[in-house]
Amino acid sequence: VTVGLETALVAAVGSAHVTTDPDLRAGYEVDWMGRRWGTAVAVVRPGNVAEVAEVLLACAAQGAHVVVQGGNTGLSGGGVPGGGEVLLSTTRLSQVGVLDRAMGEVTVGAGASLADVRRVARAEGWDVGVDLASRDSATIGGMVATNAGGLRVLRHGTMKAQVRGVRAVLADGSVIDRLTGPSKDSSGYDLTSLLAGSEGTLAVITDVRLRLVPVLPLGATAILRFDTLGRASTLVRRLVGSLGSLQSAEVVLGEAMDLLCAELGRPLPLTDAAPVYLLLDCEAADDPTPELLAALAELDGLDAVVASDRTGRARLWEYRERQSEVAGARGTPVKLDVALPLPGLDNGLASISAAVRSLAPDSVLVVFGHLAEGNLHVNVVGADLPTEQLTAAVLGIVASAGGSISAEHGIGRAKVGWLPLTRSVADVAAMAALKGAWDPAGLLAPGVLFESQGTGLSGP
Ligand SMILES: Cc1cc2nc3c(=O)[nH]c(=O)nc-3n(C[C@H](O)[C@H](O)[C@H](O)COP(=O)(O)OP(=O)(O)OC[C@H]3O[C@@H](n4cnc5c(N)ncnc54)[C@H](O)[C@@H]3O)c2cc1C
Repeated sequence: VTVGLETALVAAVGSAHVTTDPDLRAGYEVDWMGRRWGTAVAVVRPGNVAEVAEVLLACAAQGAHVVVQGGNTGLSGGGVPGGGEVLLSTTRLSQVGVLDRAMGEVTVGAGASLADVRRVARAEGWDVGVDLASRDSATIGGMVATNAGGLRVLRHGTMKAQVRGVRAVLADGSVIDRLTGPSKDSSGYDLTSLLAGSEGTLAVITDVRLRLVPVLPLGATAILRFDTLGRASTLVRRLVGSLGSLQSAEVVLGEAMDLLCAELGRPLPLTDAAPVYLLLDCEAADDPTPELLAALAELDGLDAVVASDRTGRARLWEYRERQSEVAGARGTPVKLDVALPLPGLDNGLASISAAVRSLAPDSVLVVFGHLAEGNLHVNVVGADLPTEQLTAAVLGIVASAGGSISAEHGIGRAKVGWLPLTRSVADVAAMAALKGAWDPAGLLAPGVLFESQGTGLSGP
């Protein structure tokens, strides 16, 4: 870092919040999976919106690139440096405001973790609509920036549906303030929505006004066996219309379940092994168990396990929630986050399996995900994997089937080269024009979402 830039950063936030020592920076410079890393010239931790603006002004004055990092749980490499950026960490923007009971909302700092916000909200009978296994570290700002999905999309939508307003700082230090005011406002472009999924390329989000949902105190969880994804998906489509308390429909394929049970030394959730395990989770003001059991009773010869108590439900959820951790336990997997149109699930999965088998015959294929949206996390686990070929093959299959090459993890740095598979030339040009207007010098998140040279931006 140049002396001038370091001096300006220290003037903005104080020396205690600027880190240039390589050992102290190291934890910020590598992502959660240990797959992506890069060197930052400095890590800077502003404590409020004015300090964020000063940091960005200082960087703009010196032509320094900036990468924003929240909880660093992102799975596309957008929150770690490509090399040579100032890393702006939102750790200190972690305040959780007073809950507005009348409006059912709360305003929080972008660096507040999902778990902290949920804890405050739940103490008052409210909850955040989105939930993820990374809840203890993932931040609200990061979740907006990636438009996170997670475990309850079928009931509450993705992160963008939870956001009533944001405050954010542009690369030139100017502040967009859409944090307060009525929740209905159609006076011009919805700048709040534009930031959902922006992955740190347009602005640094500093505060978020979140819509909350009522806590539903009673729950029931089931794991069911199916022969095919298509049959499981047909049931889920039916239940989404008829089982009012349903909030999650998660899937784990047989090979993934076998690996988890082997790694964690657990029995299978059902007596016999199954090709497809479906986890259904219901919550309601009154006990949803009878409603869930009645829905399951209509299925002939169904093999299922059901739990209504907290411990039993948590035990069933672990079969799904610990999949990411287990997929990473035997080395770094090739990790893809795709969505397929529901009618094409079985064919899509068969093609993906065949491609993976032929390119990496000794690998384990760990597939799990959010079935209601056709969102499958495809993890290829093994040694010496041909990452580029596997990615090209799987994403090519998904694109030809009309699916999404990144359903909820964003494009980041990891999927930039594949964006044109599902976004047209006109789409990408419109996004690049927006980027060029908001951040003309290309200072924010170079190499994320766009190839640096493709947007006329100069990467490090
Ligand atoms: C075990 C595990 C389970 C997961 N499950 C899910 C899941 O079910 N659904 C899902 O959608 N994701 C899931 N994820 C991925 C991850 O948790 C989400 O992408 C999350 O939204 C990232 O939040 P973060 O604070 O960690 O962001 P980071 O990783 O720090 O950053 C992610 C991106 O957001 C940008 N960003 C962060 N903060 C800001 C800000 N204040 N302003 C502007 N840009 C910002 C970064 O620059 C980067 O591009 C999972 C991850 C793990 C490790």
